Amino acid sequence: MSENLNPLAKVEQEILRFDQLIEDISGLFAVETLAPRIHIIHPKAARRTHRAPDRDVNLTLMAIIHGVEVAGLAILNELLAALKSGQLPLEVSIGLALGNIAAAQKGVRFVDRDLNRSFGRESLDTIEDRRADDLETLLARSERLIDFHQVRLKIDRPFWIFPYSKNGYKLARAVAPEVSIITHWGKGFSQEGQCSDEWLNHHGGNGVTMELGQNGFDPAQIAMGLGVVKKALAVVTAAHFGRRERPSKNPPAPLYTWGEIVAYPPTGGPVLDEGWHNFKMVTAGGRLGQFNGQEVCASVSGPVLFPKYPDKIPANGVYGDKAPAAELIRILKVIDERDLPADK
Ligand SMILES: [Zn+2]
Repeated sequence: MSENLNPLAKVEQEILRFDQLIEDISGLFAVETLAPRIHIIHPKAARRTHRAPDRDVNLTLMAIIHGVEVAGLAILNELLAALKSGQLPLEVSIGLALGNIAAAQKGVRFVDRDLNRSFGRESLDTIEDRRADDLETLLARSERLIDFHQVRLKIDRPFWIFPYSKNGYKLARAVAPEVSIITHWGKGFSQEGQCSDEWLNHHGGNGVTMELGQNGFDPAQIAMGLGVVKKALAVVTAAHFGRRERPSKNPPAPLYTWGEIVAYPPTGGPVLDEGWHNFKMVTAGGRLGQFNGQEVCASVSGPVLFPKYPDKIPANGVYGDKAPAAELIRILKVIDERDLPADK
């Protein structure tokens, strides 16, 4: 009765199911294991002629880069089950990877540092640095990446989010045009560490991230994500064999970039008014919250993203002056394809 399991037991069960399914399909496909729970699955009758030897994975799918964002793990398992049953044919090589297993087993976002800011670093000091190093061995061989994430607060839709590249944009629009895209550009290499998609974009592939919805094993998100995976496989397979993939009839959802990023004022206390959630609209000049008796207002109109509320009230009831996050909230603005940079 998986419904009755506590969340951590359910995570453990899904991780073990992943291992079992990999074992189950190893007679049907050529499974190459790069590190624990980082695998490449090649079709047995792979046609290798079109492949660059150093980039032989057509599509990589990743999950639980953040330990609490578990739906992606169930999606990878559903994909493996479909491969095992023969319901889904496989004509190209795919990479499947679980990200921050240690964090998922503890029910936390990360253990020592954010794994999605740990790519491209020299350090091997933390659990996440070492895991990023393992994941990079798969990404270095991957043409494309879809990295599945979830968000912390309530949200009424999934969205794509990635550093802009023409190929990443084409992939997202070909796979799920009905899902909004949030893309951004212009920020240079960060010393702190890169995201998975950013790292791949800097290393000759293209990576995109999908935020499925709010954290948890939500059946609707898992079903939607499996649909995305199947369509992505069809798109990538068609591209690999030079076939035309029938374009989706769904009208494209809005395209956004950042309109405003509001910094968290110097307080550990709450600043935002109650009730902000992802994609709730704000109008320019509208109130977001308050700090030191002054209203904090939006300078642009658009849907908000990633509102930050502090986790807990201090025992003495006095908030310090250390902000719980660098950013308070983001506001999106709608753009169209002509606004995208031509040189990326
Ligand atoms: Zn995430």
